Amino acid sequence: MPRLFGTNGIRGVVNGEDMNAELALKIGKAVGTWLGDKEVSIGSDTRLSNEMLKNAVSSGLMAASCDVVDLGEAPTPAIQYYTRENTDFGIAITASHNPPEFNGIKCIDSDGTELIRWKEEEIEEIYFDEGFELCEWKEVGSLSSDAPLQLYIDAIKGQIDTETIRDSDFEVIVDCANGASCYSTPYILREIGCDVTTLNAQPDGMFPGHESEPTEENLVDLITMVKETDADLGVAHDGDADRTIFIDEDGVFLHGDSILTLVAKKVVQERGGGTVVTPVSSSSSVEDVVEENGGELVYTEVGSPIVAREMIDRDAVFGGEENGGLIFAEHQYCRDAAMAVVSVLEMIAREERKLSDLIGDLPKYALDKRGVECPDEMKEELLKELKKRFKDEDYDDTDGLKIYYDEGWVLIRPSGTEPKYRVYSEARDEKTAEELGKKHQKEVKEALSNLL
Ligand code: MG
Repeated sequence: MPRLFGTNGIRGVVNGEDMNAELALKIGKAVGTWLGDKEVSIGSDTRLSNEMLKNAVSSGLMAASCDVVDLGEAPTPAIQYYTRENTDFGIAITASHNPPEFNGIKCIDSDGTELIRWKEEEIEEIYFDEGFELCEWKEVGSLSSDAPLQLYIDAIKGQIDTETIRDSDFEVIVDCANGASCYSTPYILREIGCDVTTLNAQPDGMFPGHESEPTEENLVDLITMVKETDADLGVAHDGDADRTIFIDEDGVFLHGDSILTLVAKKVVQERGGGTVVTPVSSSSSVEDVVEENGGELVYTEVGSPIVAREMIDRDAVFGGEENGGLIFAEHQYCRDAAMAVVSVLEMIAREERKLSDLIGDLPKYALDKRGVECPDEMKEELLKELKKRFKDEDYDDTDGLKIYYDEGWVLIRPSGTEPKYRVYSEARDEKTAEELGKKHQKEVKEALSNLL
């Protein structure tokens, strides 16, 4: 059976084959059939095609007797929180960090988590078989609306020591990327006494400020502004506000790995231990600080729903990815951008130190990233070939092949979105990481050419 849901829901260019009104209507009918007579909340980021897709999905849901609650535009974690608290299921219309012509449909389970794979498969089966079960005319679902934001903001405020943050008089610059965080982060920070300056804080699906992936190149204005002011911190979110990237008080762009490590350390210290979950692609610095502070680290495959699920199964205290997606178990089991911001502010306030100092305390590693072109249909065979090639090394095959050496590790894994293999190498210094990267890139190319 063909697959509909990718690692982060269904995505495609609007009015193209992979994302259009007919598809959205059928998804609504398939989800509604799968759910039965239930209540579903639905919200979106700030993309231009949101109303079209949201109305089509809602229509399908109501045709299958579901009652729909329209949440308007909101961060994905706010839609997830609302779903957990109020409805049986949720849908977020969003393509996260993708360019403006894309949109997507993401399903949220009753506990606020992203839908687990086997449930997606059941929905896919109904979709492809067109096994829709529509209701009688008098059972058609209703449509109402609600505002999820204050509930979400209050939940986040309930997780942290707001008074200590208030006493610190922080100046924070927030780049909302014209996305869903326009509705959340600036308001939360003002409610806890921060002096907030915003950039690109008008919701606009054309993304006039910059593309919605918070890369260093896209954040030049934010970086410049932090450098030229006395701001304590700069923060930037992706389009649907589930990920955060931080700029320290000197205007230095911090890679997601360092904030993941810093917050993991904070949470484990506060709890006096506990389990932290992260994908195999994360820096060893996370494992170092977790173990130093009496915690346990568990590695998973790459993908935030997988991390969240593992956290639930292991009763973990914290989890996250190197792309700025952090999951706080006590708040909710999904990536939450605003929660990440207030958690870091709480730490700076309590420790009474600058962010750059806190980052300076962390173990240092260098990461080398490169790729090898590989046709999708060759990916599986290549992985088998690589396992043979490295069979004498100490390796882990949780996701792709992670090979451990005395000087560091190399992760070789097929890209989930492109016809290529990624080769990530981490070591204590840049030169060693680069050497490992080059050597293994060559090995992957050789292994592939042997198969062709
Ligand atoms: Mg996102």
